Amino acid sequence: MKALVKYGRQNGDVEIQDIQEPTLGPNQVLMQVKAAGVCGSDLHMWRESHSWEIKLPLVLGHEFCGVVLKVGQNVTGFQPGDRVACETAATVCNQCVYCLSGNYNLCPHRLGYGALADGAFTRLVAARPQILHHIPDNVPFEHAALTEPICVAYNALVEKTLINPGDVVVIQGPGPIGIMALQVARLRGAGTLIMLGTNADKERLAVAAELGAHHTVNIQEQDPVALIKSLGDGFGADLVVDCSGVSKALQQSMELVRPNGAITKIGWGPQPLNYSLDPLVGKAVTLQGTFSHTFPTWERVLRLLSTGQINLKPVIGGVYPLADWENAFHAMESGANVKSVLIMDEKG
Ligand SMILES: [Zn+2]
Ligand SMILES: [Zn+2]
Repeated sequence: MKALVKYGRQNGDVEIQDIQEPTLGPNQVLMQVKAAGVCGSDLHMWRESHSWEIKLPLVLGHEFCGVVLKVGQNVTGFQPGDRVACETAATVCNQCVYCLSGNYNLCPHRLGYGALADGAFTRLVAARPQILHHIPDNVPFEHAALTEPICVAYNALVEKTLINPGDVVVIQGPGPIGIMALQVARLRGAGTLIMLGTNADKERLAVAAELGAHHTVNIQEQDPVALIKSLGDGFGADLVVDCSGVSKALQQSMELVRPNGAITKIGWGPQPLNYSLDPLVGKAVTLQGTFSHTFPTWERVLRLLSTGQINLKPVIGGVYPLADWENAFHAMESGANVKSVLIMDEKG
């Protein structure tokens, strides 16, 4: 079957290759992939600018959904034809304290699709049923494929961060995760939402405004500090959410956050900091890291999609067949699309 494979360590070492179909174990479900979102991390692996460990060769893609084709003999709860969305934790150890306490996103043996396990930019994927979720009938595959990045934002802003109705919330970076974070923060009751971006984000800032950002700021044209100090009592943001993946963003968040406020980091950045963290101490600010998501979050996010409380229409810039992956990747890299979605060929 055809698959989009990262085969080398150079910028651009990604191509469509023929790979073997997966075999179905007795405790697994064989899925036919229908749609898969392109993640910023896929672009980084394409450009060889990623800072996390991967296997090679690697089938990319970890935001996906499809239909059940076959179930292993020990599997219950799923049948051929079921529409399902699949989590990213392809395997976990099921024995460590994190697995046993339901925090398997932090299992040290976790192998994620499209990073340490072959991913979903292909026709067939074998998955354990523990990470599959039935898709509500009214949610199309192109939307269900984006459950994963919404879960990242939900885990960060609901499970790991307190937002009080009325809070001033600043989001750094209007990429896919930033746009999802904006929508989740709005559902949490944020009072004033401010999205920060750069020259490269003009289209994405417009999408943020359409989705409810009260202020969108190109920080290369306008200083966000003055704006944020002009809101409310003038002490700054209750919460700053870093979705940019740039280490320098933390320095800006320490400036924007109010005393006793919080900074939540979703974005990864390999660069060293090279500045002092003293403002965290002096302002008694909480710095929260967040990573991935687990089963209950997926169920809740699918309900939010089903009830129309997360809007993906302006987020999805284009739906492309797998063969057209390069255009899908370029459109996200240039900022023209917040999100590109790939659809798989039935026979590919
Ligand atoms: Zn992703
Ligand atoms: Zn474990």
